[in-house]
Amino acid sequence: MENPKRKILIVDDSSELAQFVSKLLEAHYRTSIASDGQTAIQKVFSESPELVLLDLKLPDIPGTEVLKKIKEMNEETAVIVMTAYGGEQLAVGLMKAGAVDYLSKPFDEETLMGAVVNALKIRDAQIEDKRKEIYLSLERFFPFLAHEVRNPLHAIDGAMAIIQRRSDSKDKLLVQSIKVIREEVQHLNQFVQECLDFVRPPVRSRLAEIEINEVLSVAINMISHIFEDVSGKIRITTEFDAGLPKIVASYEEIKQAFLNILKNGFEAMHEGGELNIKTRFESTSNLGYIEVIFSDNGKGVEKENIKGLFQPFFTTKLRGTGLGLAICRRIIEERHGGKIRIESDAGKGTTVRVELPVRRDE
Ligand code: ADP
Ligand code: MG
Repeated sequence: MENPKRKILIVDDSSELAQFVSKLLEAHYRTSIASDGQTAIQKVFSESPELVLLDLKLPDIPGTEVLKKIKEMNEETAVIVMTAYGGEQLAVGLMKAGAVDYLSKPFDEETLMGAVVNALKIRDAQIEDKRKEIYLSLERFFPFLAHEVRNPLHAIDGAMAIIQRRSDSKDKLLVQSIKVIREEVQHLNQFVQECLDFVRPPVRSRLAEIEINEVLSVAINMISHIFEDVSGKIRITTEFDAGLPKIVASYEEIKQAFLNILKNGFEAMHEGGELNIKTRFESTSNLGYIEVIFSDNGKGVEKENIKGLFQPFFTTKLRGTGLGLAICRRIIEERHGGKIRIESDAGKGTTVRVELPVRRDE
């Protein structure tokens, strides 16, 4: 099944052809049209389409140039070039420049649909490969980093504890300096821990039947303790569906994912706010899934940052690691076959949706 939200930009100076293609695609995709190269480049920038259908003959800039620009702006954008009869030779050359496929005009609906579905599939696979490559190098690097960093940190912290005990508690500056050092050590320790959490391999044997409402209650309880100083200003409301089926999952990992989401919610509401957590069961022909929705009215995410949220190390916080959501995605999507999505309005709040599939016992 195709995701109805995927965006396709159709670039053709013939508005008749562009409209025709748009009509054919509309049922399954969000379409947008550009009739010249300049507009196309602008739209790729502002709308970030997943796929561009690009006519080679444009009134202002040659299609080859447009393709180059698109690829420079966002390598992940898939491009199918559309050529008039006889342009195949050129099209093949363009595929070397990064186009995934070409369509010879005129084409019928079936050819178009086939090419679009295929191009999006190739794009997804390429992104997935790149992600795996990053993971693989991190999987080797993080344990090394953890080892090298943790031992000295333990030593520093131990030594600081002794200094703290023996120092003159009336010396305010000294007391404060020790506190700063110990806090920084703790921060580094946490960073290393998050790095390890990110690469820790899945352990299937830890799978058990778990109740999502219960895991959430534990996570909420924990987060209120962690954020003791602000938790008085944050109101947590829950709407738990009492009839949720149990799911087979890793309790610790799911708790970790929920904690990361809750933590971000708390960190977005320094001045206080409301966090609502809702659970529900959605049945489908394939048994169904549990949906958990976390909504906060904190500071939200700026539009240009939405895309990067799940990338490892993406953070807008001074002391952030940018691994919280990357870990969530690993746990929920890769290890449990679920989905995690974020919608946000800067200044208004953020909603995180988690879907976890309910499976038959295997
Ligand atoms: P970190 O919390 O270390 O920054 P995360 O991966 O947990 O890393 O989050 C990445 C970024 O996503 C955050 O820096 C923040 O900009 C944004 N974010 C995530 N959740 C929220 C939220 N509930 N409200 C506002 N921004 C959020
Ligand atoms: Mg976080």
